[in-house]
Amino acid sequence: MFRWASLIPIVSSLGVASMLEINTLRDYCEGLLACAEFEDYCPNGLQLEGDRPVRLLVSGVTASLALIDAAITQGADAILVHHGLFWKGEPSCLVGMRGRRVRALMRSGLSLYAYHLPLDAHPELGNNRQLAHVLGIVDAGPARTRGLVWRGRLRCHMDAVELASEVARVLKRQPLCVAAHERPIESLAWSTGAAQGFIEEAAGLGVDAYLSGEISEQTTHQARELGLSYFAAGHHATERYGVRALGAHLAERFGIEHRFLDIDNPV
Ligand SMILES: [Zn+2]
Repeated sequence: MFRWASLIPIVSSLGVASMLEINTLRDYCEGLLACAEFEDYCPNGLQLEGDRPVRLLVSGVTASLALIDAAITQGADAILVHHGLFWKGEPSCLVGMRGRRVRALMRSGLSLYAYHLPLDAHPELGNNRQLAHVLGIVDAGPARTRGLVWRGRLRCHMDAVELASEVARVLKRQPLCVAAHERPIESLAWSTGAAQGFIEEAAGLGVDAYLSGEISEQTTHQARELGLSYFAAGHHATERYGVRALGAHLAERFGIEHRFLDIDNPV
């Protein structure tokens, strides 16, 4: 259920906001995030064209009806998300839940911009970089092409319990931890969202731990057998920061107003 208390508005730009043409924002993000270089499961860019330029941009992790309704209530002109409306393999008819989301956007004339893998990977604004910032990981950098798995070091050694409580303190969500060894954790790899499938690749980096958003049944056994402690820190929780950073960047670059809305999601 949608709760107003879960909204955390962050106004990146105060005062009189400028107006930004819909396609100017689209073209800028296309170049900034190098969208053309990614093969993705969804269209990256302007997924739905609204009826006016952008003065107030609301960002959030997922284009849920709760986020759309909240953006409309706040008087937004456009919404910027990491998880958009359309995914490969899903039904393409705009009926039921999908129809309600699109109808709400179109009735209110809002534009919807969605950036998935390009936003995970961006070297400054991306989810992986931003997660390193908030968790205080040092020497952070991409460990594989496209920047989908990153590696770095903790400022000081921790055991798995200490690292889990630090992640919980910062992300405000208790991670699920599979402690696979007794060594102190110094080096780690991470990939935001549902990237538990990269665990073998992370083990190949020779790090002490791997952190992502979600966990599957087999991830537990993989972590134990690979000797790599695993932390499932929340899909939503690990992917709040890229879209917020991109929205703040756009506000600064173009003088528009930006608010990040955190629609609570325990997964
Ligand atoms: Zn995701």
